[in-house]
Amino acid sequence: MREDTRQWIEADRGHCWHPFTRQAEWTRTPQLVLTRGEGVWLWDSEGNRYFDGNSSIWTNIHGHRHPTLDAAVKAQLGQVAHTSYLGFANPRASELAERLCGLFPANTLERVFFSDDGSTAVECAIRMALQYRINRHEHHRTRFIAFENGYHGDTLGAASLGGVGRFTGLMQRFGLDVTRVADLATLPEQTDDIAAVIVEPLIQGVNEMHLWPDGMLTDLRLWCDARGIHLILDEVMTGFGRTGKMFACQHEEVIPDFLCLAKGLTGGYLPMAATLSTGAVYDAFLGGGEKAFYYGHSYTANPLGCAVALASLEVFETERTLERLKPKIARMGELLAGLKARCPQVHEVRQRGFIAGIELRRPDGVPYPAEERFGEAVCRHAWQHGLLTRPILNTIVLMPPLCTSEAELKFAVDALEKAINGDSPAA
Ligand SMILES: *Cc1c(COP(=O)(O)O)cnc(C)c1O
Repeated sequence: MREDTRQWIEADRGHCWHPFTRQAEWTRTPQLVLTRGEGVWLWDSEGNRYFDGNSSIWTNIHGHRHPTLDAAVKAQLGQVAHTSYLGFANPRASELAERLCGLFPANTLERVFFSDDGSTAVECAIRMALQYRINRHEHHRTRFIAFENGYHGDTLGAASLGGVGRFTGLMQRFGLDVTRVADLATLPEQTDDIAAVIVEPLIQGVNEMHLWPDGMLTDLRLWCDARGIHLILDEVMTGFGRTGKMFACQHEEVIPDFLCLAKGLTGGYLPMAATLSTGAVYDAFLGGGEKAFYYGHSYTANPLGCAVALASLEVFETERTLERLKPKIARMGELLAGLKARCPQVHEVRQRGFIAGIELRRPDGVPYPAEERFGEAVCRHAWQHGLLTRPILNTIVLMPPLCTSEAELKFAVDALEKAINGDSPAA
């Protein structure tokens, strides 16, 4: 091991605290220090190369060190890195807001509120949905409907809407008033106190890539409309092409009242988020000073983030990203069907667009005991075959950058197959 690698790991073990991580175990197991990227590839500090199989935790879109995105950040750095959005406008934020609204039909989503992460995009939608009711003197509407096993981020409000026990378990009692439902059949009769429903459209990411049935979103929109309830779509994962269209809601031509965007917004370059809302929502915040939306963050509408988000949208056009993605989505399906046919441990493949969850079970179909952490072992073994990704329990995520070529896809699935075989107990 190189001396600088040793020092970085030592400093990490001595002082760093990682997200969702059992730290005692972390400091005992070998770690990679990632230092460099290019396209779909990442390098560690020892010079080993890996395919970025989960797009650096679902954020990267056009690959690392994309010339257009790099140039946009550099050009903006030549102007200014950050200015306050509290009391001032900035050129890139104006352009980006206009551009984002332009991706939807006229007079639908018309306003953009910037923040920093998926969690804050959701938090902002929650706060807007609640204050909307206060501003309109509908004080009784304070409750949210959320779906079982949904995931909406980790700030306290966003987490309390989540339904995945291991993320929200300890914090559940501190959060918002939530009615949790399994599906549309279990929506409540009594809805007088409901402000909004929140859902991850088409696919629940953290819920091991659970797919909603076709038409679910349309039906949910109609249900909300009939009852004067707002619909919040959390497209933090699905936004920016992942499902094959720019946004998941476009598959069913559904327009939400609030749309939460983050991860892919900057192409995976910088932390930035946006909560889009309708003119009708916005209008409820006009009038007396007490109606204003009192919410914001220091780095709101950061010019570097806005500049690179604009560049990412430009690349979607110049490289015809979505058009070129279509055959690659089909190819991913074929490759994963082949993997399932050859590997008895592959119990089910759940794919929507360029997002796939590969659920592993024992060859006899019985789930691996959770404490065995088979999924983690497979992903760790995959390092040796040049693939980086993360499991959700025993479901392996394959969600590569949209620029991945068919040959690179094959590399990733081959690496996964070797990892599954290498780590499985002799059958
Ligand atoms: C990742 C994610 C979030 C949280 O985003 P952060 O940027 O991690 O705060 C919220 N909702 C969904 C659907 C996500 O996938």
